Amino acid sequence: MTKRGVLAVISGPAGSGKSTIAESLIANSENITRAVTATTRTPRAGEKHGIDYIFMSKEEFSNDLDAGKFIEYNEFNNNFYGTPRSELDELIGEGKTVLLVIDVNGATAIKKEFPTAVTIFILPPTESSLKERLSSRGTEDAKAIKERLAIAKYEIKKITNYDYLVINDNIDDAIKDTEAILGIVSKHLLRGGELEMWKEGRYANWHGNHSNHPA
Ligand code: 5GP
Repeated sequence: MTKRGVLAVISGPAGSGKSTIAESLIANSENITRAVTATTRTPRAGEKHGIDYIFMSKEEFSNDLDAGKFIEYNEFNNNFYGTPRSELDELIGEGKTVLLVIDVNGATAIKKEFPTAVTIFILPPTESSLKERLSSRGTEDAKAIKERLAIAKYEIKKITNYDYLVINDNIDDAIKDTEAILGIVSKHLLRGGELEMWKEGRYANWHGNHSNHPA
Protein backbone atom coordinates (compact mmCIF):
# COMPACT_ATOMS: atom_id res chain seq x y z
CA MET A 1 0.00 0.00 0.00
CA THR A 2 1.44 3.37 -0.95
CA LYS A 3 1.13 5.76 1.93
CA ARG A 4 -0.37 9.07 1.10
CA GLY A 5 2.12 11.90 1.09
CA VAL A 6 2.20 15.06 3.14
CA LEU A 7 0.89 18.31 1.78
CA ALA A 8 2.77 21.30 3.18
CA VAL A 9 1.62 24.82 2.45
CA ILE A 10 4.36 27.44 2.71
CA SER A 11 3.42 31.11 2.82
CA GLY A 12 5.15 34.33 3.68
CA PRO A 13 5.52 37.85 2.36
CA ALA A 14 7.47 38.50 -0.81
CA GLY A 15 11.10 38.63 0.29
CA SER A 16 10.58 36.26 3.23
CA GLY A 17 12.76 33.59 1.61
CA LYS A 18 9.95 31.07 1.18
CA SER A 19 10.92 30.14 -2.39
CA THR A 20 14.60 29.74 -1.46
CA ILE A 21 13.61 27.46 1.41
CA ALA A 22 11.29 25.39 -0.79
CA GLU A 23 13.93 25.08 -3.54
CA SER A 24 16.61 23.98 -1.10
CA LEU A 25 14.39 21.32 0.47
CA ILE A 26 13.45 19.97 -2.95
CA ALA A 27 17.07 19.90 -4.11
CA ASN A 28 18.16 17.97 -1.03
CA SER A 29 15.44 15.36 -0.70
CA GLU A 30 14.15 12.93 -3.29
CA ASN A 31 10.83 12.64 -1.52
CA ILE A 32 10.10 16.36 -1.41
CA THR A 33 8.62 17.95 -4.47
CA ARG A 34 6.75 21.09 -5.39
CA ALA A 35 3.34 21.49 -6.93
CA VAL A 36 3.72 24.12 -9.63
CA THR A 37 0.91 26.65 -9.57
CA ALA A 38 -0.49 28.79 -12.38
CA THR A 39 -0.33 32.55 -12.75
CA THR A 40 -1.29 35.26 -15.19
CA ARG A 41 1.60 37.54 -14.20
CA THR A 42 4.57 38.02 -16.55
CA PRO A 43 7.61 35.87 -15.79
CA ARG A 44 10.43 37.59 -13.88
CA ALA A 45 13.95 37.31 -15.23
CA GLY A 46 15.12 33.72 -14.93
CA GLU A 47 11.68 32.24 -14.25
CA LYS A 48 10.78 29.24 -16.36
CA HIS A 49 7.41 28.01 -17.54
CA GLY A 50 6.46 24.74 -15.85
CA ILE A 51 9.16 25.10 -13.20
CA ASP A 52 8.46 28.35 -11.37
CA TYR A 53 4.90 28.68 -12.59
CA ILE A 54 2.57 27.61 -15.31
CA PHE A 55 2.37 31.01 -16.98
CA MET A 56 -0.92 31.62 -18.75
CA SER A 57 -3.02 34.44 -20.18
CA LYS A 58 -6.03 35.77 -18.27
CA GLU A 59 -8.25 34.11 -20.85
CA GLU A 60 -6.62 30.70 -20.41
CA PHE A 61 -6.85 31.08 -16.63
CA SER A 62 -10.51 31.98 -16.81
CA ASN A 63 -11.24 28.95 -19.03
CA ASP A 64 -9.43 26.59 -16.62
CA LEU A 65 -11.26 28.17 -13.71
CA ASP A 66 -14.64 27.63 -15.37
CA ALA A 67 -13.65 24.04 -16.10
CA GLY A 68 -13.03 23.46 -12.36
CA LYS A 69 -9.31 22.84 -12.83
CA PHE A 70 -8.19 24.86 -9.79
CA ILE A 71 -8.61 23.77 -6.16
CA GLU A 72 -8.29 27.39 -5.14
CA TYR A 73 -7.33 30.64 -6.77
CA ASN A 74 -6.65 34.18 -5.71
CA GLU A 75 -6.19 37.62 -7.20
CA PHE A 76 -2.95 39.19 -6.13
CA ASN A 77 -1.58 42.51 -7.37
CA ASN A 78 -3.97 42.48 -10.39
CA ASN A 79 -3.00 38.99 -11.42
CA PHE A 80 -4.55 35.58 -10.88
CA TYR A 81 -2.86 32.64 -9.19
CA GLY A 82 -4.33 29.15 -8.91
CA THR A 83 -3.50 25.66 -7.65
CA PRO A 84 -4.17 22.99 -10.29
CA ARG A 85 -6.13 20.08 -8.85
CA SER A 86 -4.73 17.25 -11.01
CA GLU A 87 -1.07 17.68 -10.15
CA LEU A 88 -1.65 17.89 -6.43
CA ASP A 89 -3.78 14.75 -6.23
CA GLU A 90 -1.24 12.83 -8.28
CA LEU A 91 1.81 13.84 -6.24
CA ILE A 92 0.19 13.18 -2.87
CA GLY A 93 -1.01 9.82 -4.16
CA GLU A 94 2.61 8.94 -4.96
CA GLY A 95 3.46 9.34 -1.27
CA LYS A 96 5.55 12.48 -1.80
CA THR A 97 5.89 15.44 0.54
CA VAL A 98 4.39 18.12 -1.66
CA LEU A 99 5.22 21.78 -1.09
CA LEU A 100 2.71 24.35 -2.15
CA VAL A 101 4.05 27.90 -2.01
CA ILE A 102 0.92 30.03 -1.99
CA ASP A 103 -0.55 33.06 -0.24
CA VAL A 104 -2.57 33.22 2.99
CA ASN A 105 -5.99 33.01 1.33
CA GLY A 106 -4.86 30.00 -0.65
CA ALA A 107 -3.62 28.36 2.55
CA THR A 108 -7.04 28.73 4.17
CA ALA A 109 -8.75 27.22 1.12
CA ILE A 110 -6.32 24.29 0.97
CA LYS A 111 -6.72 23.54 4.67
CA LYS A 112 -10.48 23.25 4.12
CA GLU A 113 -10.03 20.73 1.32
CA PHE A 114 -7.04 18.92 2.88
CA PRO A 115 -7.48 19.14 6.68
CA THR A 116 -4.27 17.16 7.28
CA ALA A 117 -2.16 19.67 5.31
CA VAL A 118 0.51 21.33 7.42
CA THR A 119 0.81 25.09 7.07
CA ILE A 120 4.08 26.94 7.62
CA PHE A 121 4.54 30.70 7.61
CA ILE A 122 7.99 32.14 6.85
CA LEU A 123 8.74 35.57 8.27
CA PRO A 124 11.78 37.85 8.10
CA PRO A 125 13.00 38.93 11.56
CA THR A 126 11.90 42.59 11.33
CA GLU A 127 9.79 44.89 9.20
CA SER A 128 12.84 46.85 8.11
CA SER A 129 14.59 43.64 7.00
CA LEU A 130 11.52 42.81 4.91
CA LYS A 131 11.67 46.24 3.22
CA GLU A 132 15.36 45.84 2.60
CA ARG A 133 14.97 42.35 1.08
CA LEU A 134 12.16 43.50 -1.18
CA SER A 135 14.12 46.49 -2.45
CA SER A 136 17.33 44.55 -2.98
CA ARG A 137 15.62 41.89 -5.13
CA GLY A 138 15.62 44.43 -7.96
CA THR A 139 12.75 42.66 -9.70
CA GLU A 140 10.12 45.26 -8.89
CA ASP A 141 9.67 49.00 -9.25
CA ALA A 142 8.95 51.33 -6.32
CA LYS A 143 5.17 51.15 -6.80
CA ALA A 144 5.14 47.36 -6.84
CA ILE A 145 7.36 47.24 -3.73
CA LYS A 146 4.94 49.52 -1.90
CA GLU A 147 2.02 47.32 -2.90
CA ARG A 148 3.83 44.19 -1.80
CA LEU A 149 4.60 45.75 1.57
CA ALA A 150 0.92 46.54 2.07
CA ILE A 151 0.06 42.94 1.14
CA ALA A 152 2.74 41.70 3.54
CA LYS A 153 1.10 43.59 6.41
CA TYR A 154 -2.22 41.94 5.59
CA GLU A 155 -0.59 38.50 5.41
CA ILE A 156 1.24 38.91 8.71
CA LYS A 157 -2.13 39.45 10.41
CA LYS A 158 -3.05 35.89 9.35
CA ILE A 159 -0.05 34.21 10.98
CA THR A 160 -2.19 32.77 13.77
CA ASN A 161 -4.05 30.64 11.20
CA TYR A 162 -0.84 28.70 10.56
CA ASP A 163 0.43 25.55 12.25
CA TYR A 164 4.09 26.67 12.34
CA LEU A 165 6.02 29.92 12.16
CA VAL A 166 9.63 29.97 10.97
CA ILE A 167 11.60 33.19 11.45
CA ASN A 168 14.09 33.58 8.65
CA ASP A 169 16.89 35.37 10.43
CA ASN A 170 19.45 33.12 8.83
CA ILE A 171 18.52 31.20 5.68
CA ASP A 172 20.41 27.99 6.61
CA ASP A 173 18.68 27.82 10.00
CA ALA A 174 15.30 28.56 8.43
CA ILE A 175 15.81 25.69 5.95
CA LYS A 176 16.76 23.33 8.80
CA ASP A 177 13.74 24.39 10.86
CA THR A 178 11.36 23.85 7.96
CA GLU A 179 12.96 20.49 7.20
CA ALA A 180 12.53 19.46 10.84
CA ILE A 181 8.83 20.38 10.76
CA LEU A 182 8.30 18.35 7.60
CA GLY A 183 10.18 15.42 9.11
CA ILE A 184 8.03 15.36 12.21
CA VAL A 185 4.81 15.80 10.28
CA SER A 186 5.57 13.06 7.79
CA LYS A 187 6.41 10.62 10.61
CA HIS A 188 3.13 11.44 12.22
CA LEU A 189 1.23 10.62 9.05
CA LEU A 190 3.33 7.54 8.60
CA ARG A 191 2.05 6.32 11.94
CA GLY A 192 -1.47 7.05 10.77
CA GLY A 193 -0.74 5.09 7.61
CA GLU A 194 0.55 2.14 9.60
CA LEU A 195 -2.55 2.13 11.76
CA GLU A 196 -4.65 2.00 8.61
CA MET A 197 -2.64 -1.00 7.43
CA TRP A 198 -3.10 -2.65 10.82
CA LYS A 199 -6.84 -2.16 10.61
CA GLU A 200 -6.83 -3.70 7.17
CA GLY A 201 -5.11 -6.76 8.63
CA ARG A 202 -1.95 -6.30 6.58
CA TYR A 203 0.36 -7.25 9.43
CA ALA A 204 0.31 -10.93 8.49
CA ASN A 205 2.46 -12.07 11.42
CA TRP A 206 -0.14 -10.95 13.87
CA HIS A 207 -3.11 -12.66 12.30
CA GLY A 208 -4.97 -14.60 14.96
CA ASN A 209 -2.24 -13.84 17.50
CA HIS A 210 -3.33 -10.54 18.84
CA SER A 211 -6.37 -10.02 20.97
CA ASN A 212 -6.81 -6.44 19.67
CA HIS A 213 -6.56 -7.41 16.07
CA PRO A 214 -9.73 -6.54 14.19
CA ALA A 215 -11.70 -9.49 12.91
P1 5GP B 1 4.76 36.10 -6.85
O1 5GP B 1 4.14 36.99 -7.87
O2 5GP B 1 5.65 36.85 -5.91
O3 5GP B 1 5.44 34.91 -7.46
O4 5GP B 1 3.58 35.49 -5.97
C1 5GP B 1 2.67 36.32 -5.31
C2 5GP B 1 1.97 35.53 -4.23
O5 5GP B 1 1.09 34.55 -4.79
C3 5GP B 1 2.92 34.76 -3.34
O6 5GP B 1 2.49 34.88 -1.99
C4 5GP B 1 2.77 33.35 -3.83
O7 5GP B 1 3.11 32.41 -2.82
C5 5GP B 1 1.30 33.32 -4.14
N1 5GP B 1 0.86 32.23 -5.01
C6 5GP B 1 1.55 31.56 -5.95
N2 5GP B 1 0.79 30.61 -6.53
C7 5GP B 1 -0.42 30.65 -5.91
C8 5GP B 1 -1.62 29.90 -6.03
O8 5GP B 1 -1.76 28.97 -6.82
N3 5GP B 1 -2.65 30.25 -5.21
C9 5GP B 1 -2.55 31.26 -4.30
N4 5GP B 1 -3.60 31.49 -3.54
N5 5GP B 1 -1.44 31.99 -4.16
C10 5GP B 1 -0.38 31.69 -4.94
